[in-house]
Amino acid sequence: MKDPLGLALAAGFSHAGLLDPKKLRALPEVREMCASGRCRRYDRSWSCPPACCTLEEAEKNMHRYRRGVLVQTTAQLEDDFDVESMQAAEARHKAGFLTLAEVFRTEMPDCLPLGAGSCTLCEVCTYPDEPCRHPGRMLPSMEAYGILVSEACTLAGLHYYYGPRTLTYSSCILYS
Ligand code: SF4
Repeated sequence: MKDPLGLALAAGFSHAGLLDPKKLRALPEVREMCASGRCRRYDRSWSCPPACCTLEEAEKNMHRYRRGVLVQTTAQLEDDFDVESMQAAEARHKAGFLTLAEVFRTEMPDCLPLGAGSCTLCEVCTYPDEPCRHPGRMLPSMEAYGILVSEACTLAGLHYYYGPRTLTYSSCILYS
């Protein structure tokens, strides 16, 4: 991929940075957060634990890659309860990341896109009764791979938090 940062910024992301996938860690604490059911996707999607991978598999998989790009969408909120802007930014981020992931996957089918939150390609995930409908387009989350998102942002030279009345969504793509 020639200019991943330029590509990301042209796609409308607020910030983008490069990271070294070999420095990413799959942390049990993050997996525990998933298991606590906070986002209610644990054991409910092929893209989430326990179906997506073990932590050992996740770390091994991430460390196969030589390059990574992390992209962010930052929402400006009117106040701390501005749910409308939060949801709009999340939808914008997910749609933009799906498009970016398709561009990377076309050029490098072996790349690993890791999104913000569980895969939402289908209205209802087939898990666990039927196989994933789109295994080649499915988007596991950074958290599903045990990544502490704030740590990945630091690795990419970016902030995790951009100040009061902002909310930032982050995703990354690993490739070689
Ligand atoms: S692509 Fe569809 S079936 Fe596959 S993980 Fe995503 S939501 Fe589930």
